[in-house]
Amino acid sequence: MHPGLQQDLEQFPQILERTRQIAENFLAGLKQRPVCPPLERQQLQPGDEQLAQSGTGALAALDDFWRHYEAGISASAGPRYFGFVTGGATPAAVAADWLVSVIDQNSQLSHDTIAAAIELATIEQLKSLLGLPETHSGSFVSGATMANFAGLAIGRQWLGQQRGIDVAQQGLAALGEIQVLAANPHASSIKALSMLGIGRHALKTIASLPHSEAIDTQALERHLAASAGVPTLVLASAGTVNTVTFDDLPRLLALRERYPFWLHVDAAFGGVAACSPRYAPLLAGWQQADSITVDAHKWLNVPYDSAIQFTRHLALQMQVFQNHSAYLEAPTLRPDNYLHLTPENSRRFRALPLWLALKAYGRDGMRDIVERNVRLARLLGAELAASDDFRLLAPVNLNVVCFALNQTAGDAAAARDRFIARLDAHGVVRCTPTLYNGQPGIRAALVNWMTEEEDIRQTLASLHHCLPEQI
Ligand SMILES: *Cc1c(COP(=O)(O)O)cnc(C)c1O
Repeated sequence: MHPGLQQDLEQFPQILERTRQIAENFLAGLKQRPVCPPLERQQLQPGDEQLAQSGTGALAALDDFWRHYEAGISASAGPRYFGFVTGGATPAAVAADWLVSVIDQNSQLSHDTIAAAIELATIEQLKSLLGLPETHSGSFVSGATMANFAGLAIGRQWLGQQRGIDVAQQGLAALGEIQVLAANPHASSIKALSMLGIGRHALKTIASLPHSEAIDTQALERHLAASAGVPTLVLASAGTVNTVTFDDLPRLLALRERYPFWLHVDAAFGGVAACSPRYAPLLAGWQQADSITVDAHKWLNVPYDSAIQFTRHLALQMQVFQNHSAYLEAPTLRPDNYLHLTPENSRRFRALPLWLALKAYGRDGMRDIVERNVRLARLLGAELAASDDFRLLAPVNLNVVCFALNQTAGDAAAARDRFIARLDAHGVVRCTPTLYNGQPGIRAALVNWMTEEEDIRQTLASLHHCLPEQI
């Protein structure tokens, strides 16, 4: 054994202890840490592009990394990081994620580990939490992008099956043109169309309802009637990123009765709202969707990278993803046969953080995160609406506040960008830009388990501090 490996084998306990200390210090300082470190702190140290010849050992490498790069790490795991849709990681989820690396299991049905059985049980518990029926099976993938990819891949297979074509064997060319209908799909679904060979141009954008991001189902029906016979995937949003708008799923299901299409529901974060009886009605009907995306590393607050793709077409899923080789187990149709159900071959034991979090906090804990985030988003929205300096671009439907500066003179997008740059430099709260209804806007997405009312007060103070005339 290389002496560096030998030394680290002997020092494993000290290495773990040092890692624990770093983690403890990081967490203790998380609330004070800038949400957006200065750009010069996000640069590599001179020399760090070079590969070492013999190495320093883990302790020195760890200290070197932390000394040089700690200041380049954002407080994105903290309670005032409202950019994009960024979840945190609960203590149980962090503990589990550490163990996932230590125990390093390959999560598939290999008859030598409990990992796949726990993955299946985690999926079952998540279905119970979110009110999804028995008919859906699910697998862990790396994020909602891959869940959308998998869902649409199964949809593509179904479109072929309806016409006697096995797309997995014959290729998409045998099926020909597909149309994909959506009003406000997430960009990751468009990427999935590229990866699937369906092509980005297959997207036919359907109008939204006036003053809403929800699909206009009458416009959709007109399009379906005019294109009868064309293989069709419909992408529904169950929580758009700007305003957390939900498409009218019961209406879409009624249309599916008349114009057969595959209904994929991207519920990356909005789906988690179903754990609250208060918000579950927003998801009414998703139980009948053909495929569903739910992220775990957003509102379920497990570390990156974790999401679940659900479908009620397990056999089609196995047609797409089965993976034959003499040295691998043959495909058999069971919901935990992940080797034959997901894009990957070897897979991290990705379910453990969610499994442990569900055990640690239960239904009530998850519901608390969702309901507290929504309550605080509404509080933030009400304060911004009441202020002279800001206005809401849309009502706060759930956990995202979409707002703008109240100044009207000059280039609104440039003013918004300068404001966000000041906010980033202030470091207290992270918000990210968007365009809503043609207007440059600012989003605050509340997705973190730690966020409390005090964070909203600090957020409002920072937003006001960073106004143009305050600087
Ligand atoms: C975040 C998000 C995605 C992409 O998710 P990743 O986990 O980043 O791959 C897809 N759809 C929606 C609605 C999202 O919010």
